[in-house]
Amino acid sequence: SKVPPIILNNGVEMPQLGFGVWQVPDAEAEKAVATALEAGYRSIDTAAIYGNEEGTGKAVAASGIAREKLFVTTKLWNADQGYDATLRAFDASLDKLGLDYLDLFLIHWPLPSKDSYVDTYKALEKIYADGRAKAIGVSNFLPEHLERLLGETSIIPAVNQIELHPHLQQRAAREFHAEQGIATEAWSPLGQGKGLLEVPAIVAIAQKHGRTPAQIVLRWHVQLGNVVIPKSVTPSRIVENIDVFDFELDIEDIAAISALNEDRRLGPDPATFDVA
Ligand code: NAD
Repeated sequence: SKVPPIILNNGVEMPQLGFGVWQVPDAEAEKAVATALEAGYRSIDTAAIYGNEEGTGKAVAASGIAREKLFVTTKLWNADQGYDATLRAFDASLDKLGLDYLDLFLIHWPLPSKDSYVDTYKALEKIYADGRAKAIGVSNFLPEHLERLLGETSIIPAVNQIELHPHLQQRAAREFHAEQGIATEAWSPLGQGKGLLEVPAIVAIAQKHGRTPAQIVLRWHVQLGNVVIPKSVTPSRIVENIDVFDFELDIEDIAAISALNEDRRLGPDPATFDVA
């Protein structure tokens, strides 16, 4: 594959770039994932709440790609937190995906007000011990939530998937993850494609390298060491977004992008988000 792996804290290899399918309806997911697999993606990021695990699973099955060459992630939805409910929800997700193991299973949100992420994580540890997920981790956890898991459970999460893009660079979280051996995975890596791709500094770097703004932003993530999961349903963009491993940003480029941080979230604040 054209995508290099990063090595998770348990030795499992995860492609540094994958395909995200949030907001892709189930009926379209099969086609989008098939296009991505054809373009060389080997990692797919879905979630129970996205409602497209079935379409995703169909594309995986139809691809003919050997299971061990693929890296499939899904996430436990908020309403299913708690030890027993998590085990049931995991079975339902595997069933929809048509798989007998997952590569990575994540808790979607910490829901601090519900105070059940520790029990929930213990169910992930059981799933991991049974070999039904090759790695386990979390999403949208703040360092304080990770601290609690580190104190009260035994397996260090392999990954924390958080909102991260040039307008929300998450330096403190990335530093904390690096200290603890947790990989940082960036969601909405392109800032959802909104204003970010028109920012003059990014457009200028794109012109300098003869690349697109999306490729510049993805390359910035890659050079920072983040795992990225850009989403698109447009075939030309799906191809463009994986084509970021044959050029390099220089120190000035990185500095110019680093200067764009505004600590501005597009999504909810994990400290208060409690939608079930
Ligand atoms: P993204 O940053 O990947 O942006 C996607 C949008 O950017 C597309 O819909 C399109 O409008 C635009 N785009 C994509 N490629 C482009 C290109 N080459 N040129 C111009 N525009 C382009 O946003 P996202 O979908 O929010 O995030 C990516 C993935 O992260 C999701 O699909 C999902 O898998 C994951 N995610 C996880 C969480 C979480 O809570 N864990 C939350 C949001 C997203």
